[in-house]
Amino acid sequence: MAPRPRWEAGTAAERAFAHITDYLAGLPERPVAAAEGYAKIHARLSIPLPAGSTDPLEIVDELAAAAEPGLAATGSPRFFGYVIGGTVPAALAADLMAVAWDQNAGLASLSPAAAAAEAVAGEWIKELLGLPATASVGITTGTQMAHVTALGAARHRALARYGWDVEADGLHGAPPVRVFVGAARHTTVDAALRLLGFGSRRLTVVDTDDAGRMRPEALRVALAAGTGPAIVVAQAGEINTGAFDAMGQICAISHEHGAWVHVDGAFGLWAAVSASARRRALVTGIDQADSWATDGHKWLNLAYDCGIAIVADERAHRAAMSTRAPYIPPPAVDEHDPLEWTPEFSRRARGFALYAALRSLGRAGLTDLVDRCCAHARRLADALGALDGVAVLNDVELNQVLVRIDDDDATTAAVIELVVTGGEALVSGTVWHRAVAMRLSVCNWMTTEADVDRAVAAIAAAIADARGRCHG
Ligand SMILES: *Cc1c(COP(=O)(O)O)cnc(C)c1O
Repeated sequence: MAPRPRWEAGTAAERAFAHITDYLAGLPERPVAAAEGYAKIHARLSIPLPAGSTDPLEIVDELAAAAEPGLAATGSPRFFGYVIGGTVPAALAADLMAVAWDQNAGLASLSPAAAAAEAVAGEWIKELLGLPATASVGITTGTQMAHVTALGAARHRALARYGWDVEADGLHGAPPVRVFVGAARHTTVDAALRLLGFGSRRLTVVDTDDAGRMRPEALRVALAAGTGPAIVVAQAGEINTGAFDAMGQICAISHEHGAWVHVDGAFGLWAAVSASARRRALVTGIDQADSWATDGHKWLNLAYDCGIAIVADERAHRAAMSTRAPYIPPPAVDEHDPLEWTPEFSRRARGFALYAALRSLGRAGLTDLVDRCCAHARRLADALGALDGVAVLNDVELNQVLVRIDDDDATTAAVIELVVTGGEALVSGTVWHRAVAMRLSVCNWMTTEADVDRAVAAIAAAIADARGRCHG
């Protein structure tokens, strides 16, 4: 008989741990952007499909060496691109254990630990964000799938009110559902709605102000223009400006018309934990909404992937997501089966890292993290705004900074490229009101004032360089 394969000391996992340790130690000082592009890395990895086995130790060493130049240091304290956090140590450690434990997090009866960690983390998140304690929670891959989850619940309830069972009968022949979105919504809202059968051309786009906030009066007019099932998607934290819809007003108007309100709060929901009354005021009234989507992998500083869907109407949430089969034991009355609350069936145990991050920060640590990031964003905006020719385009109320250089698309784009290739900091670009702009988002738990100052110096140098290029 062949011997059973087994784990041995000094194996690939230990070697991987050594590579992890090196990577994390180097993170604050390594170039932020990937040094090599896709084609180079692809060529290096692209060997003929191995006919036989390769020693795991060799694979780990070679993979680490081959991948390293193609890694973006998203965990770097000077990573200001997109909206991406790092990984707090407790979450990283919990995630490493979660991989080794290899739990299927769908069922409490199969993995009581994975299901219980999610349940506890869900309770904590509702408490931290000031959302209804009775709401149900599903842990997804990110905000996009949290939208699918929560908007699935919205679709269920909106149609059930008109006597239609969408899970049984689908959308063919159903009363038309009117879906209202802001003009400055995140693109994942459209993607999620599309998956639920609400095509992009059928959405009612509500006018927004200069900062991307939905105009409540425009929403009122749009809602009053028809009847029938209705869903409104509001936004807490616009991706470029960080602006918030007027939540209390949006919820009141929507509810007057019987509409469900879903909130895209991928990063913005966390303003609720700020010590600043002005910042907390941004989310005033948000608890009046019917569902919320946010991310664990942005401001909470968990590794990818982790999104959170929270739904006030627990029955609608379960009706929209639950799947059962004869071979799946039903949960006991006091058990939480994660597969009833998300689109996925089998999946990794995201709850351990979520639990660990929340526990390691605590309420005070999270408040400090959010307010520190906002203060850094303010410092970035002040320093950049003081540079000749640099305009700060947004009101920096949160952690997002939007700037334009010399009021010129080419110069602004060139500066972004020069900063990224320089490796000292990473910023990203966007188009805002038809003009190219540079986006900076401060989400990382490690970022210090010194990091902000280094980024400003790198941007100032890039501006001088870009002017030489564009106008020299
Ligand atoms: C990042 C983001 C999303 C998408 O979140 P994922 O986790 O990438 O799916 C949606 N809305 C807003 C406002 C975001 O910032």
